[in-house]
Amino acid sequence: MNKSDSERIAQVLEGMGYQKTSNEKEADLLVVNMCSVRQSAVDRVYGMAKKIQTLKAKSYKLKAILTGCVSKKDFSKFKNFFDFILPIKTLPKWQEFLKKKGVHFLPNQREKDFVENLKCDYLKIKPKHEKSFSVFIPISTGCDNFCSFCIVPFVRGPLICRPANEILNEVKEAIKNGAKEIWLLGQNVNDYNSKLKSQKSKVNVINFARLLKMINDIPGDFWIRFTSPHPKNFSNELIETMAKCQKVTPYLNLPLQSGDDEILKKMNRNYTTKDYENLVKKIRQTFKKYRKGLEKYVAISTDIIVGFPGETRKQFENTVKFFKKIKFDMAYIAKFSPRPGTAAEKMKDDVSPKEKERRYKILTNILKKIAKKKNEKFLNKEIEVLVEEEKNGFLLGKSRHFKTVKFKGEKNLIGEFVKVKVLKAEPFGLFGKLIK
Ligand code: SF4
Repeated sequence: MNKSDSERIAQVLEGMGYQKTSNEKEADLLVVNMCSVRQSAVDRVYGMAKKIQTLKAKSYKLKAILTGCVSKKDFSKFKNFFDFILPIKTLPKWQEFLKKKGVHFLPNQREKDFVENLKCDYLKIKPKHEKSFSVFIPISTGCDNFCSFCIVPFVRGPLICRPANEILNEVKEAIKNGAKEIWLLGQNVNDYNSKLKSQKSKVNVINFARLLKMINDIPGDFWIRFTSPHPKNFSNELIETMAKCQKVTPYLNLPLQSGDDEILKKMNRNYTTKDYENLVKKIRQTFKKYRKGLEKYVAISTDIIVGFPGETRKQFENTVKFFKKIKFDMAYIAKFSPRPGTAAEKMKDDVSPKEKERRYKILTNILKKIAKKKNEKFLNKEIEVLVEEEKNGFLLGKSRHFKTVKFKGEKNLIGEFVKVKVLKAEPFGLFGKLIK
């Protein structure tokens, strides 16, 4: 989501005549788009803030803006480092604000008034896509779920869904400009809900399943991916739509967070491991029913937090057992760090860093074995790959199952679909030979 927001920031600043530079020493304006989901990301901004202070000491012209997900606690810490701290939702007014103020430092109170008086719809801003072949399209922002560890509802506010026609127009425009992969983004995509007037002026309610179907019906050769759904309200309609819509790739990130029911309750996730297991079963069966060949297999990745407050060894063992049972293709494992303002911040962070590290390593080692086995499914198969970049003489791309694929080929294939024969499977990637 932050990546997509950065593309909108770039558009606004270029509209003001700014040009992008990869050398921060040359910059007149520095914008830091912050993520608060993990403490490590916040720590990186602290590192940058100190660097900015040094740069500002050398150039009186340099101004720095902090935006993105900034918690109240971090706001007071960062305000001495940055000239302006502006919520991302105020983006439509940045031009007016910065121009009017000549990018002079604004006293805090007035900055606060400016921010509070805004009625914003920043997602309407046309983004400046970094890669035209793979584009991020936000369908909503914010979240109403309040998982006890998560800062998102505090920094992004309640769920706001974009009108379906605005999303559809952005998708059509991206495809016209050569997009081959559309990523639909939202903190919780399956809470998406909006209304759309039909030609007969009838108002139709568009949920996420219907939105997927409408995007799938847009003519063109492109893939549809989305992130992230919540397991608690994953409807049968959505499962069937995913499986039936051929442009939706057979890949799903389904955050589990913990494999222990008590911890899930403390996390305020509103599902049990049984619910999760049944959901995965249903998704796997439905793909088997509606897809052919390799597509019958749906790759599932997940997010896990280890060392949540009060997580006992026994409860962690439950996660290990469940993790082995579901057999994920990939997992993004994080060690718990308290986020300011969340319910979990008030709980005792009683799992030591050493123990969190131990749990992290255990799950990572299991993942490596399972992921390798999963990737072996693709051995000697011809798969379609969207080429993303060139690195150290190899091309790197992603398959429909969201596997990283490495192979030799010409740089001009970046942004194209190619066929690759898989010759080797590793835990986190496939190696192959270009065949077309
Ligand atoms: Fe955060 Fe996702 Fe939970 Fe919303 S659903 S509170 S974004 S973890």
